[in-house]
Amino acid sequence: MNSEKARTCRKWPLCPPDSFLDEELRTLQDRHLYRKVRAIDRTGAVRGILDGRSLCLFCGNDYLGLSFHPEVVGALIEGARRYGAGAGAARLTSGHASVHAALEARLAAVKNKENALVYSTGYLANLGILTALAGPEDLVVMDKLCHASMVDAARLSGAAIRVYPHRLYRRCEEILKRSPGFRRKILVTESVFSMDGDTADIAELIRLKEKFGCLLVVDDAHGTGVLGRRGGGAAEDPAQSEKIDVVMGTLSKALGCLGGYAAASSKMIDYLTNFSRPFIFTTALPPALCAAALAAVDVLERNPGLFESLWRHVRRMREGLTAAGLSYEPSESPIFPVMTGDEAEALRLSQTLLEAGFLVPAIRYPTVPKGKARLRLTVSAAHSDDDIDAFLAALRCSLKSI
Ligand code: PLP
Repeated sequence: MNSEKARTCRKWPLCPPDSFLDEELRTLQDRHLYRKVRAIDRTGAVRGILDGRSLCLFCGNDYLGLSFHPEVVGALIEGARRYGAGAGAARLTSGHASVHAALEARLAAVKNKENALVYSTGYLANLGILTALAGPEDLVVMDKLCHASMVDAARLSGAAIRVYPHRLYRRCEEILKRSPGFRRKILVTESVFSMDGDTADIAELIRLKEKFGCLLVVDDAHGTGVLGRRGGGAAEDPAQSEKIDVVMGTLSKALGCLGGYAAASSKMIDYLTNFSRPFIFTTALPPALCAAALAAVDVLERNPGLFESLWRHVRRMREGLTAAGLSYEPSESPIFPVMTGDEAEALRLSQTLLEAGFLVPAIRYPTVPKGKARLRLTVSAAHSDDDIDAFLAALRCSLKSI
């Protein structure tokens, strides 16, 4: 019996059609996996108010503090006055403005590519890139820890999917060797892994891409503003960038705004413009946000001090964590996972830190694999040395008390 027939022939117990809601939510609560949004009114890049209490945030992706930078905020306000609050239509109808084109040209230059295509979010960019490049005749090969947006994209594309253990490129090579007969093979990785903070070996992936004739897509969401000699990300080196077929990025992390993009050859961007459904069938990113993102790129390029502060803080945090018995050698990014494994323990640690005035939510399945719960600490250029020292003191106490 095929699975469709098996589903429809099986006798399901008669119950109200929404009874599964309570059941599923209760199961999540029992497993310490239940989640709820909390209103945190940010008052600065790393400050916020929760239930009337002022908190210092060690959990965001605003690595350079640009979401509150006066030039970025000013460009957003001025952009809204000039262009309105929204784009009013999809890009291929009347939603495309010259500021979208200006932002795309700028992002292409940052990533050493001929052109770029802006999407409404980074999630949609990944969905748009992979579903345009891959179909049922193709193979997507990805790192086990690739972000959910890439996993969802690969599934939606209908391609065969093979996953190699995290950063185990020998296994990636074996998979490629043992996978003849596909129309296209697409290698997918993050540059900085969002929940672990370590980095991919892009040079090795380029070697594999060339050996097996694959396309290489690199999600540089957490690399932009963070990696390279001046925050250009995984594609800062033109020689390396040339070998990456599509560099995906977001405007929502170190650039402090919202939106995603693909940077690639002009031909690839032309192709994505025509075949990328999450680009075609949605309203364009508001032009005011394009103006803000342009200002953020300007600030990043004109203020190398921000990038230097970020890395000074990364080193300070790493040294403090090492002194507390947690090892992160070498620090590859501003992301530090404090592993608890157990979900309930991650929640307790997060709550103890909250009581001390620091917000670091517990990260649990399905964001990370089951049994790999953690706190995901991040530092920003916007923290002060005192913030980091106070946080480390609170963390040491919290680790003793849980
Ligand atoms: N890719 C990675 C690696 C991410 O961590 C995220 C966001 O968390 C995204 C893509 C999606 O980006 P956005 O938040 O801009 O939709």
